[in-house]
Amino acid sequence: MSNSILLAPGPVQLHPEVKKILSLPMIHHRGLEFDAILKSTLHNLKFIFQTTQPVFALTATGSGGMECLLVNVLSPGEKVLSLISGKFGERWADMAEAFGAHVIRHHIEWGKAADPKEIEKILKENLDIKIVLSQACETSTGTKQPIQELAHIIQKTNALFLVDGITALGAYNIPMDAWGIDGLVGGSQKAFMLPTGMAFVCFSEKAWKKIKITKSQKFYFNIENELAANLKGETLFSSNVIILRALDYVLKNIQAQGLESLFKTIERRALYTKEMAQALGLELYSQAPSNSLTALKLPSHIDGVQFRADLELKHHVVVMGGQDALKGKIIRIGHMGYITDEDMHQTTMRLAQALNDYNHKINLTTIEEKSHSFISGKV
Ligand SMILES: *Cc1c(COP(=O)(O)O)cnc(C)c1O
Repeated sequence: MSNSILLAPGPVQLHPEVKKILSLPMIHHRGLEFDAILKSTLHNLKFIFQTTQPVFALTATGSGGMECLLVNVLSPGEKVLSLISGKFGERWADMAEAFGAHVIRHHIEWGKAADPKEIEKILKENLDIKIVLSQACETSTGTKQPIQELAHIIQKTNALFLVDGITALGAYNIPMDAWGIDGLVGGSQKAFMLPTGMAFVCFSEKAWKKIKITKSQKFYFNIENELAANLKGETLFSSNVIILRALDYVLKNIQAQGLESLFKTIERRALYTKEMAQALGLELYSQAPSNSLTALKLPSHIDGVQFRADLELKHHVVVMGGQDALKGKIIRIGHMGYITDEDMHQTTMRLAQALNDYNHKINLTTIEEKSHSFISGKV
């Protein structure tokens, strides 16, 4: 059994109550007990999306949710503007291409936020763009994209704005209706604090008009059929009963706590990590850091792949490394999920020890004091 601290940007650590719920006896997805759970979760999901539109709970990973958004509004041959600021942006552009879109790839330097004025210019020069794709938080670099500003611009055009909120929705404020987002997806193993296996999606009224006339290849993710099933109190195919039952608990908990308070909790972890990073002499990678996770540059003499492995095997802390061009250069520390102050403190101390092993000398007593004073609220 693993006793490691898991501070990855998903999957995340689970609340003790969620672990209990996950081990309850199996129930049937066409039974009455499940009917009540489905009804309540689908209703309560609207609170997180901050929408009046129906929200769907799909048995799929986050990427499945991205595909669902896309295939229900994209007809082959249509022009799609894809904002790419990291790995997940690449994935969505590739996906759109796989479904026959004519994709304009707008590359943004990794670690930087999109410039809304540039996007406005591209949209003015390409009036036939039908869909714009962006991550809310690009998890590969820990960067927050200016979704509100982008939505404001795209709303004035005929294009639909689809947003991958897999490490945003439930981590910081992203009100779908108020900002005018046309399609939004969240993932169970990220900000929803559950195991991997479910994606949550929602479409705007503007998107629903397009859904009705979209000619695309889809079957499993046919959202009109899913809606019809949901209206009868069912899901289109077998439901992920186990995760949905735990989701019901998580959503009720969030509602009781309030979104503001949830976001504050996550923000505090991000602030703590930034402060500790400074004390450890590690620079932030992102120029527009998200609260969901923090990406830190490692000193250039450290082999990041080995360093991350040492953290896991010797110090029992699991964080993520970098991908592609960032491989071996950064570590990414997650702030979503069930994280205690002790987890945060231990992670800092073990990170400090690991850095010491690599001759990046840290005074452990100073770090310990700084960590304690932040956690006890003295700073
Ligand atoms: C994790 C993640 C995904 C992919 O989710 P899977 O559940 O692995 O399919 C997509 N986008 C972002 C921003 C993510 O963080």
